[in-house]
Amino acid sequence: MILPDKKKVMLVFSIILIAGFLLTSLVSYYTSRASLRAEIRQNELPLTSDTIYSEIQRDLLRPIFIASLMANDTFLRDWVLDGEKNPDTVTRYLKEIQKKYDTFTSFFVSDKTKIYYQSKGMLKTVNKQATRDVWYFRLKNLDADTKYEINIDIDMANNDAMTIFINYKMLDYQGKYIGATGVGLRAYAVQELINTYKQRYNRTIYFVDKQGKVTLDSSDLPGPRDSIFSMPGIQSFASQILASPETSRTYTRGDQTIHLNTRFIPEFKWYLLVEQPEDAAIKEINRALAVNLLACSLITLIVLTLTYTVLTAYQKKIEKMAATDSLTGAYNRTPLEIIFDETVKDWKRKGGPVFSVVLLDLDHFKEINDTFGHPAGDEVLKTLVQTIQQTIRQSDVIFRWGGEEFLLLLKECPPAEACATAEMIREKIKATPFQFEDRTINVTISLGVAGYRDMETRQSITSRADKAMYRAKQNGRDRTEMALEG
Ligand code: GH3
Ligand code: MG
Ligand code: MG
Repeated sequence: MILPDKKKVMLVFSIILIAGFLLTSLVSYYTSRASLRAEIRQNELPLTSDTIYSEIQRDLLRPIFIASLMANDTFLRDWVLDGEKNPDTVTRYLKEIQKKYDTFTSFFVSDKTKIYYQSKGMLKTVNKQATRDVWYFRLKNLDADTKYEINIDIDMANNDAMTIFINYKMLDYQGKYIGATGVGLRAYAVQELINTYKQRYNRTIYFVDKQGKVTLDSSDLPGPRDSIFSMPGIQSFASQILASPETSRTYTRGDQTIHLNTRFIPEFKWYLLVEQPEDAAIKEINRALAVNLLACSLITLIVLTLTYTVLTAYQKKIEKMAATDSLTGAYNRTPLEIIFDETVKDWKRKGGPVFSVVLLDLDHFKEINDTFGHPAGDEVLKTLVQTIQQTIRQSDVIFRWGGEEFLLLLKECPPAEACATAEMIREKIKATPFQFEDRTINVTISLGVAGYRDMETRQSITSRADKAMYRAKQNGRDRTEMALEG
């Protein structure tokens, strides 16, 4: 029987297991990563920007309403048209508005006098040349259909809080422009949202104007952060962001993969940018992959160990089955060549007493079979081997040579000693009649002994032992004969 090479089997098993596990682990890893990316880009970021946008709109609704109320207030208009007498009355009016609606500021700028009225009194006059007053002249020059303008400013004196100014056109009863009024409100909700998203979801939120200048950010933007045209990574597609109302991108900043969602906020004429680094989210998946691979390695190791153990056990069993005679348990002829060669080599290396071969054959075994039956013969053979085994040493080996013939390999045992052993076996067999189903079977054996001669082949020594055994038969059986010299 040809046994599969254990090493090859183990190798194929290992390759199949490792490749299989690696494939499934990696496929699931890349699938999870792809779906995570899609989730961030298609759902999470657009949703964040939607929420922020709707908060902005909600934040804006109230001040627009208040500003419109002021612009249409007949008292205020009459007072202006009446020549802006008693500025205190308007100051008081503005103070009341501020108190009632809890606004950050309230104002009125007269187009005739260019005076800027505030709740605290007359602040100043607006000047076309002053950059701080640009808004007023811009508002005045807006087309007739546009009633108001939203202006976002960051209040530096107050933690960079985002302040929304509603600048509303005031018209007289004929529709002629007479000034600007309105309120300034804190965009608390927007600011709060930006902070929440930053803290809870690790998202960076910032706004840029039409020139790409950063106008408001969640203060965790890595520098330089004045313009998207100078920010690493994003600068390469900054003009594309400014050219489209909505974009979704993935880019790398340093060693980080960043997902970005942008959208234009028409009310502010700003772009809202929401970013999320992938690394934090991917960390979970990386950990899952590591656990997965570890589990797979463990399973591979267990399966391979089990396979190896089972394979080794089976191989040993099969090898033993192939080398032994099933009836008596003695070796068959298969391993004789190997064991003989080893014995020769052993003797050559160690020197010392030579080994001998004994061939033995049951006398008139055919008769035993004929008289007592084949099963009885089988039992006789088994008992014979047991008896021999009890007599010889552990290092000696017994082979079933033929039907009822056995060969003994007696190590470190010169022919004279081997002859003595043979005689011992012969006498023991003779002295212990075999019992089979209440019947006594007397068994004798004939033996031939040959001591090893240097350079001699296996065939030569067995042939000499066989001849000696034949002589024992011829000389009346139940005896031991030594191989002749020469
Ligand atoms: P001799 O003394 O000359 O050796 O006579 P013998 O009858 O022993 O010799 P022979 O070679 O004529 O017969 C051997 C017999 O051994 C024939 C065969 O049926 C029997 N035999 C061989 N193998 C087995 C076996 O496994 N079991 C049994 N029961 N008998 C076997
Ligand atoms: Mg015989
Ligand atoms: Mg025989």
